[in-house]
Amino acid sequence: MSAKALGQYELWFVAGSQEMYGEEVLAAVAADAGEIAAALDAAAALPVRVVLREVATTPEAIRRLCLEANAADACAGLILWMHTFSPAQMWIAGLSILDKPLLHLHTQFNRALPWAQIDMNYMNTHQSAHGDREFAFLETRMRLARKTVVGHWSDEATLARIGHWSRAACGWREAAGLTVARLGDNMRDVAVTEGDKVEAHLRLGITVSGFGVGDLVEVMDAVGEDERQRLVAEYEDQYDLVPELRSGGDRRDSLVVAARIEAGLREFLTAGGFGAFTDTFQDLHGLRQLPGIAVQRLMADGFGFGGEGDWKTAALVRIVKLMATGLQGGTSFMEDYTYDLAGEVPLVLGSHMLEVCPSIAAARPSCEIHPLSIGAREDPVRLVFDAAPGPAFMFSMLDMGDRFRLLANEVDVIAPPQELPKLPVARAVWKPKPDFATAAEAWLVAGGPHHSVFSAALDTEVLADFAAIAGLELLLIDEHTTSRDFANEVRWNQVYYRLAAGL
Ligand code: MN
Repeated sequence: MSAKALGQYELWFVAGSQEMYGEEVLAAVAADAGEIAAALDAAAALPVRVVLREVATTPEAIRRLCLEANAADACAGLILWMHTFSPAQMWIAGLSILDKPLLHLHTQFNRALPWAQIDMNYMNTHQSAHGDREFAFLETRMRLARKTVVGHWSDEATLARIGHWSRAACGWREAAGLTVARLGDNMRDVAVTEGDKVEAHLRLGITVSGFGVGDLVEVMDAVGEDERQRLVAEYEDQYDLVPELRSGGDRRDSLVVAARIEAGLREFLTAGGFGAFTDTFQDLHGLRQLPGIAVQRLMADGFGFGGEGDWKTAALVRIVKLMATGLQGGTSFMEDYTYDLAGEVPLVLGSHMLEVCPSIAAARPSCEIHPLSIGAREDPVRLVFDAAPGPAFMFSMLDMGDRFRLLANEVDVIAPPQELPKLPVARAVWKPKPDFATAAEAWLVAGGPHHSVFSAALDTEVLADFAAIAGLELLLIDEHTTSRDFANEVRWNQVYYRLAAGL
């Protein structure tokens, strides 16, 4: 079996039953569960390990199993399946204390019904259709958040849905304990990048730690000549340097400054155990350039980033990158910038001042230096490229005051229809789904931010699963969205989430 992309995490596979059936049936249940667990563990669609647990037959054993799951750091969630009938009151004590994500797999061991052979013994052993209904009633009665997946356990579609959920469960593990370093505060007077950090800690487990830029500069100044030269050599190896940045070029010094910033930032984040960070061009004391290539390369190595103090997007970039581990397609911080409304199909040009992750690049980036009209610092070095064409999504989190809202829009990235010889930043050009006007209207009606996570790696089902695990609202704009239904969903959600939050 090949190594799992998120092999540090495991799902526990539990078949429910009861002691009444006797040893022979329970042995068959255990063997069948073992076969299913092994198939899930081997499935390429699941990036995590799947561990078979004992057949659950008593309230006390179920309670103990749930306690154990809560305490197991590697356990990202539980997959439950009732092979036979498991009287569901047995599950109340356990499920009441379970704090790991739950997937109810409604499957059946045998795909085909043996019409000519079926007898009461077979009916007794293979009654998921019946047992899972008893179990689902209790889950619903308990108002348990869970994902329900229906289908034979060997079907690709079933495995894909479990795989999506398992990525979301890993994202949830990543959020718990994720720390964002905020270098400088929010960009002055900007509304959408602000938010309630205590609520983020309570809801998602994310903490945000503020630092003065001087704290970074101190680490940066300690970067040795060797490390700077090593990074410069890496730049030469991985990117096409413009002549002025090459060895002997008249702006070579700026490349060395950029390398120093990268080395310092990397050391600062790694030593502090941070998974994401923000900075702001309004607070760069002691930095000669706004970090450009440094931020881009740190994102490519898995760090989350948000510009202008945007810690919410920074955290989400990190979480999406974790959830996308091992998949084709990159993930980046992104900002809707400007439109082309002249063509038959309107287009969106997304970019940022500098900080777009090269994991989304269509080809080898070029490493360039250009002036930046804001920040009042020296010209920053940056990587310039076009995003690779293909399906992708934008994903954002906004603070509604009483809760967080997640918002996503599926898009199709295309190659820029024309060259952009004077645009000195990395960019993506996309067509939003279902169409430009509906998508932009929905995004604005939902209060969607200008910053987002752009990802070409994940199915949006993963985002929906993540939102469900976190208990957060997700508004998804996709091919099925209409303006009227979307506006209604926003209106109704406002009521639902207020009521669901309680007093
Ligand atoms: Mn911005």
